[in-house]
Amino acid sequence: MSNGLMYISDMGLVDANKKEEGMQDYKAVMEFIGQKEREERLNRICSLIKRPYTIQAQKPHTGFLYISDNMTDIKNIIIPARDLTKPKIVLTAHYDNFPGSLGYNDNASGISALLSIQEIIPDNCEIVFTDYEEKGALGASLYLEKSEEGSILFNINLDIISIGEYIFQEKYSQYKYSIKTPEADKFYSCQNIPCNDSHAFSCASVSSILIISNNHDDEYSLVNNVWHYQHNGVYDNNLDKLSEKSIDKVVSLTLEIIKINS
Ligand SMILES: [Zn+2]
Repeated sequence: MSNGLMYISDMGLVDANKKEEGMQDYKAVMEFIGQKEREERLNRICSLIKRPYTIQAQKPHTGFLYISDNMTDIKNIIIPARDLTKPKIVLTAHYDNFPGSLGYNDNASGISALLSIQEIIPDNCEIVFTDYEEKGALGASLYLEKSEEGSILFNINLDIISIGEYIFQEKYSQYKYSIKTPEADKFYSCQNIPCNDSHAFSCASVSSILIISNNHDDEYSLVNNVWHYQHNGVYDNNLDKLSEKSIDKVVSLTLEIIKINS
């Protein structure tokens, strides 16, 4: 594997022979960062970053949608854009888990996708691994609060991308910047996927596209899966049920969206 994640497969976590040529070790990454406490996940994600990065940390404050007494600092991991002269394309995936979930599909899948393209994205792309999405998109809200007005062209948000190979997209706040996407036959459109970081971007008037996958092509099944099967053992706690092909498709689509909007 050429993405620098070799040492994980050296540990025997993945049978590389099963992979199609060129496909990354997404499951090895999911196994490495899933099933861990939040702070440990953060450390492990940082250990897989091959570029300079920063941790943006702040206590939650009452301006955010939801806070609880025992909440620790919000901590986003940011791989900054290398070119700050142009508006940024911000790529996000949340790294916190829903309580009780091992967090493989939701959302180590999204993290593994962004880690795989960290070195090949254009210089105006910024990667943000957001915190506390499951508490009301607190990390994304903090990131947006700290961003300069007009500095972001749009957001691509990857969340739950390894259930199956039917790829869906939902677009938000298209009035600000109209995100161009590849031909419709590459993925399906959906609406009203609940509670994800794209809502925070939308609230800040930044156009956003959520990419999500499912094992059926109908929106009803997708929404049903999001509501009922994300946070129990069927998908999120079972790596064997998840599809690396799905993540690979999402990675290709993400790169394509970046390209046609550049
Ligand atoms: Zn999620």
